[in-house]
Amino acid sequence: MQDVPIAIIGGGLSGLYAAFLLEQKGIDYILIEARDRLGGRITVAKSSVAQNASSQSVNHEKSNDGFDLGPSWFWPAYQPQLSSLIETLGLPRFAQFEEGDMMVERSANELPICTQGYQSSPTSMRLVGGMAALTDALYARLNAKRIVIRQTVRRLTKTGQYIKIDSKYGSEHINAGQIITYRAQHVLLALPPRLAISNIVFEPALPQDLALEWQETDTWMAPHAKYVAVYDSPFWRDNGLSGAARSAIGPLTEIHDASLAKGEGAVFGFFGVPAHVRQSVSVDVLKAHCRAQLVRLFGAQADKPKAEYIKDWSQDIFTATAADANGNGQHAVAPASTPNIGVWQEAITGCGSEWSVPFPGYVAGAVDAATVAIESLSTSVLRQ
Ligand SMILES: Cc1cc2nc3c(=O)[nH]c(=O)nc-3n(C[C@H](O)[C@H](O)[C@H](O)COP(=O)(O)OP(=O)(O)OC[C@H]3O[C@@H](n4cnc5c(N)ncnc54)[C@H](O)[C@@H]3O)c2cc1C
Repeated sequence: MQDVPIAIIGGGLSGLYAAFLLEQKGIDYILIEARDRLGGRITVAKSSVAQNASSQSVNHEKSNDGFDLGPSWFWPAYQPQLSSLIETLGLPRFAQFEEGDMMVERSANELPICTQGYQSSPTSMRLVGGMAALTDALYARLNAKRIVIRQTVRRLTKTGQYIKIDSKYGSEHINAGQIITYRAQHVLLALPPRLAISNIVFEPALPQDLALEWQETDTWMAPHAKYVAVYDSPFWRDNGLSGAARSAIGPLTEIHDASLAKGEGAVFGFFGVPAHVRQSVSVDVLKAHCRAQLVRLFGAQADKPKAEYIKDWSQDIFTATAADANGNGQHAVAPASTPNIGVWQEAITGCGSEWSVPFPGYVAGAVDAATVAIESLSTSVLRQ
């Protein structure tokens, strides 16, 4: 059994940033990630890099030329902490392309119309290489020996001043099914609150009010799915179009330019059809509907993307639960991050993005929640 002062559950941005802060303070930890990759909701599709699914090491790819399947944007004007982290890590950024007109589909009986484009204010910014450039850059600064992947935490047991952490190797691991146990003084829950309370058994149980609060906290974007179509170039720009569109017909309701800073053109769209409808048809049928919509909006050139991706987050067990399928699309109000009574008090702290008070569910929230969690530790665990 490995003994550490702190265990971080989850290797998305919040977990990686918490690890980064702990390393800066010289504190030992273990980070346990269920997937075979780091980044969590931050992930990019790379047309040219084959995924090495059989590797037992962390799948750490260089983030050049990636198309975001999770978050794309941040807003430096009102997210200064995230912006300065990105600057410190030396990651180049660029503005979301919004020059030109946008397309609007109002009904199946009318042709799409071209209308004045929408300029976001403050400007939405993207990272060169996609948002995974951020998680990759953090990972590159961490001690890889402290990070394990393909291990799903199933149970936390409070025994005296310690927490026993039982995790299980995933089915694709050579030790599939085997239980691994760690012991820590404090656990940072770097995953959505609803996922934590739904999938991890707490022994003894958490206070009922807190458990209910976490269960009722929607995981941001968990009900959604993204479609990305990649082309040799952003041909719509030649026709004065921004690549943005809104549609009342679908299947995509909101479409944006997703082209690389330099290189291939791309558009992405959010599906408007609910999760259960998406799942009633095959991925190929969904893609065909998306292509047909892009042809209606941007012309015949849209018919033959060189690559297409669909990421349905509602189907991903490490992001969504059944309760997320019908989320209301609002950012949840941050729940309490730690119990204020009982044995779990000062033993666990929620640090996933949904626990951020100023930016719940946002990329900036993951950085904020991790910072707040580590700051709260400095007065308790870090002194032990
Ligand atoms: C389609 C989409 C678009 C988005 N767009 C934007 C945007 O443009 N701007 C923005 O600010 N935000 C956006 N977001 C939200 C943003 O992605 C999240 O706020 C952020 O990535 C959350 O990071 P996190 O580390 O808190 O959680 P996560 O990224 O969810 O990380 C949690 C980690 O915990 C792991 N895990 C889960 N269960 C276990 C377990 N039992 N044991 C071990 N590990 C476990 C997961 O595999 C995951 O790696 C978007 C999200 C999605 C899905």
